[in-house]
Amino acid sequence: MITTLLDGNKRFVSDVFDRERDYFEDLAKQQRPTVLWIGCSDSRVPVNTITQTRPGEIFVHRNVANIVATNDWNLSAVLEFSINHLMIPDIVVCGHYGCGGIAALDEKNAEDRYIPIWLNNAYKARERVDDKLLELHFQIPEEQRMNLIVEENVRLQLEHLQEYPFVRTAMQDGALSLHGWVYDMSNGGIKVVQRNNLVCRE
Ligand SMILES: [Zn+2]
Repeated sequence: MITTLLDGNKRFVSDVFDRERDYFEDLAKQQRPTVLWIGCSDSRVPVNTITQTRPGEIFVHRNVANIVATNDWNLSAVLEFSINHLMIPDIVVCGHYGCGGIAALDEKNAEDRYIPIWLNNAYKARERVDDKLLELHFQIPEEQRMNLIVEENVRLQLEHLQEYPFVRTAMQDGALSLHGWVYDMSNGGIKVVQRNNLVCRE
């Protein structure tokens, strides 16, 4: 597999880089991305491919289940750099149906040490969906329930984003918009699940 990657890079240099040398040379001097993408690490959700964007257009942060944890210094630094230095005007939190991280909310694997701790930042999404289904006396297929939790998790993480004071300030100044999307691997489409100006629900 590793050899395949290096062979692929050789083809990239000869087929893409050389053909668009001006674009890449300009890009080497400075990046000007206009979107911060917070997505899942899942290999089936490659941001540039599913949005048909080029290198330099999207600043990317990916982790298990596209989670925004306010005690995650990795993401905090990404956010600070995106908003205060790159002046990125749009942040997308993109989940995806069939997310293994979200499915793990229902699983108890005693051998995992870190995944359950990480998922503490997403359990509330499952609670909200299950409470709502109980309240409405709805019984739905498991796959549909999971899809609802995937969507609710995106809304929850957008709320977490707004716990950062500098995110709220940028939004209030009209310099930043938040967007919630879910990618559907079965047809390649993106569903918009939430937009700007969210009201925190507690
Ligand atoms: Zn995932």
